[in-house]
Amino acid sequence: MSFAATIVTLYPEMFPGHLGHSLAGKALANGAWSLQTVQLRQFGLGKHRAVDDTPAGGGAGMVLRPDCLAEAIDSAGVAAETPRLLMSPRGKPLTQALVRDLAAGPGALIVCGRFEGVDERVIEARGLTEISIGDYILSGGEPAALTLLDAVIRLLPGVMGNEESGAEESFETGLLEHPHYTKPAEWEDRAVPDILKSGNHAAIDTWRREQAERLTEERRPDLLARRADTSRQ
Ligand code: SAH
Repeated sequence: MSFAATIVTLYPEMFPGHLGHSLAGKALANGAWSLQTVQLRQFGLGKHRAVDDTPAGGGAGMVLRPDCLAEAIDSAGVAAETPRLLMSPRGKPLTQALVRDLAAGPGALIVCGRFEGVDERVIEARGLTEISIGDYILSGGEPAALTLLDAVIRLLPGVMGNEESGAEESFETGLLEHPHYTKPAEWEDRAVPDILKSGNHAAIDTWRREQAERLTEERRPDLLARRADTSRQ
């Protein structure tokens, strides 16, 4: 079964973007996922096909109209069980757990916002789940949608050559990943740690785990706290 991505956007030419290259590009070519874009402008009003208007109550910027956006969403004809997402800085944070859930499903309809945002009524009426890729403001939802899709596509069956490397990434274990080394054994007076050359796999596993814990404690103590919470449940 292939993952069907449907994107509602004013800039369909931004897709597949970087997802047309490398692993995701090959996966698109061989049908592991599919991409459909819906040009929101097609559903705009008047000579200029306007899709936005001034905010009710006043203030800066423009807001995407609910009628145009709903028509665009409805025109895509996605199945009722397909998650409908709106990229939004107000949304639920995108995590590896959420990425995993999406990758296990049939696909996603993703609405890319622009301007100040989207009329609240269409979010309610079309059951859009707001997803944020981080605490900063982008100029539009397109790069956020590409980021979400990138994370999902690499988990689809057959996309990553080495399935095992997926299980050990940062966040999959609740820890940041241990440091990596490769050849040469010595470079600019810096040696690969002896333990990694010892051939003792149990000792190497222990060292990697300690390093992962140290890095997580230093850089992301919030992850350790979250981990402690879930193991108590
Ligand atoms: N006025 C809004 C920001 C609008 S930015 C606010 O203060 O919350 C314009 C569009 O970019 C948004 O509608 C959304 O689709 C997208 N966007 C911006 N930052 C994002 C983020 N961190 N995560 C996901 N989408 C984002």
